[in-house]
Amino acid sequence: MNEFWDDLWKRERAFLSSGGGEYRHDASFVAVSTLAGQYYCEYKAENEYAFGEVPTEAKEAGTALHDELIPTKEITEAEFVELVGKKEPSYAVLNVWGSVGGLRMVGTPDHIVWSAGKPLWLVELKTTKGDPGSLWEDQESQVRVYGLLLDVMGLDCSKLGLALARVRADGLDAERRREWITEVSSALLKGATKEMEKRYGGSLKVHLFRHDRRAAVRAVTAKAGYWLREREPTSSTSVGKCRACEYADKCVKSLVRVSDRERRPV
Ligand code: SF4
Repeated sequence: MNEFWDDLWKRERAFLSSGGGEYRHDASFVAVSTLAGQYYCEYKAENEYAFGEVPTEAKEAGTALHDELIPTKEITEAEFVELVGKKEPSYAVLNVWGSVGGLRMVGTPDHIVWSAGKPLWLVELKTTKGDPGSLWEDQESQVRVYGLLLDVMGLDCSKLGLALARVRADGLDAERRREWITEVSSALLKGATKEMEKRYGGSLKVHLFRHDRRAAVRAVTAKAGYWLREREPTSSTSVGKCRACEYADKCVKSLVRVSDRERRPV
């Protein structure tokens, strides 16, 4: 098993030192989260490169809750290998990477449950103020592509399940927040996420998917043409999306003005 991991770290270093900025915006790699964001609106990626990331209250609150629900500490490669190699389930994340559809991709999932060196569950947490039961294509694509990259890296994904956990902050008291990651991991292992959702009374929904290589490859190839300069970016046709977008007051494709919330003439 150690040979496998030694080889994987070596391949990772070679992968990360490859690439010469040949993608759009002179990028050498595409982040999984950015690719997933293209499902919301591709022009967001354009704006991110033009204006940088725009902090918002909602993003900051989401990040803080995220850190509280999934606390992490850095460990060495050797500690990681020992931890995930145990038969009893263990929790550890690693950066994922790989080439799919001509795109070199990188990312960091929120949480992975392991047993005997195999990933059993990959979990992505999304906080929301809305209905946790809603399932969005960008979020589903993100979790699917993380799973695909584990597969591309050469991990045994024969038992891999994918979980997209959507939670409302107002449904989580301090104790729940402390226990959340253990509770959701254990519910996934026992096949008891429905019972967990009931305990959370509508403030949690765990959307489950099996790892599906073909569906995940499709999710990448549908958006790769933008990075490969094969086509120009598309933009949202939804006023609601533009209204909720942090770039609405700067974006040349915006359908609203933040100042007056009026629709732009076309
Ligand atoms: S303002 Fe609208 S068109 Fe522009 S990036 Fe945001 S969602 Fe897309």
